[in-house]
Amino acid sequence: MSTSPLRTVAEHQGRIADLVGTLAPTTIPLTDAAGLVLAEPVASPEALPSFDNSAMDGYAVRAADIADAGPGRPVTLPVAGDIPAGSPGGELAPGTAHRIMTGAPLPRGADAVVEVEATDGGTASVAISAAREAGSFVRVAGGDIEAGAIALPAGILLGPAQVGLLTALGLQAVVAQPRPRVLVCSTGSELTDDPEPAAGQIRDSNSVMLAAAVEEAGGVAVRRLWSADDVPTFLGVLDAELDAGIDLVLTSGGVSAGAYEVVKDALAPRGVEFTKVAMQPGMPQGSGVYDGTPVVCLPGNPVSSLVSFEVFVRPALRAAFGHPRPYRDVVRARLAEPLSSPQGKRQFRRGVLDRAGGTVTLSGPAGSGFLGWMARADCLVDLAPGTTALDAGADVDVWDLTR
Ligand code: AMP
Ligand code: MG
Repeated sequence: MSTSPLRTVAEHQGRIADLVGTLAPTTIPLTDAAGLVLAEPVASPEALPSFDNSAMDGYAVRAADIADAGPGRPVTLPVAGDIPAGSPGGELAPGTAHRIMTGAPLPRGADAVVEVEATDGGTASVAISAAREAGSFVRVAGGDIEAGAIALPAGILLGPAQVGLLTALGLQAVVAQPRPRVLVCSTGSELTDDPEPAAGQIRDSNSVMLAAAVEEAGGVAVRRLWSADDVPTFLGVLDAELDAGIDLVLTSGGVSAGAYEVVKDALAPRGVEFTKVAMQPGMPQGSGVYDGTPVVCLPGNPVSSLVSFEVFVRPALRAAFGHPRPYRDVVRARLAEPLSSPQGKRQFRRGVLDRAGGTVTLSGPAGSGFLGWMARADCLVDLAPGTTALDAGADVDVWDLTR
């Protein structure tokens, strides 16, 4: 029997990224835009702040009227107005003060605010015991962003500050690449959603796990599907669910060398490629296009499935909407214990990273069945194909699954 060389992890990453591609920018409501990437720069439609306002709770004055104030020699002015936040402001007559709250509009004629701490806090008249220069504690209109200026550049990741800013400027939508929409399909006649599985049955954990992984990557898990190990059933499920709004079908199970490999049996004759990747876990992988939609077929063992998702699918999903950091942060850490790794395969071990100490402890054995160990891990230890054994204290690459 001839053996074809295994595909490298990097080659398969490239294949999946090409398959998923990039999504065309579209208009997205700002309230749905956090986590997406701005596709076009945003010019500010108006100044921020839009009017001169107070930076402090205090008194709006003319700086010249309090030029002689100082400790022990207060200047007393009548309080001719009260300007809470939200009031339209007013007009300050010379020789008077208006009580003003933070964010409230500076009255016309005022050029400074004296903070309440430098006064006696009076409401009929106020004794001010500090001089303040013109402009003190005034937030000038346009002082943050001028009308017409670029508020945010293209390519910036929209986080809380960015959507907050755009909302403050009055925008209601942005142009961004949308979240990739993913169908997650579990396969396996042993799977059930019955809370009390019958003998030989197990719960379908992969679809919930992979849907969560899709959402964590920034995608939308549109639906979770299931098929028994039967080719017509599996194709029927796909045909019923596929439409133009789906960017990726993600299957799990049914891709290895057993007798009932439904995904492989159904999709290999229909142009999807099934290959072996030189990695552990996650050697059998499938990828291609079915009925016009990209399909990625992950192995069924929960750990293989999730590690494969991390290595191949997550970066492709993030690249699909232009994420500036498609890959996890990789850090170097010292192994807290020795390990061995198969020659010729890139091994991803689950680990717990001690960031402060710069060390990583393995979480469980290498086998792909230990979801419990993976669930208590927070990183993957990335071991090169040529690595067969490492001593405690050796430096390794670690994928930080929290970043
Ligand atoms: P397969 O790749 O279909 O041969 O599955 C490999 C192993 O993973 C078997 O023990 C399956 O029962 C298990 N498995 C497959 N799919 C799932 C799933 N959706 N949830 C939990 N375990 C699964
Ligand atoms: Mg199966």
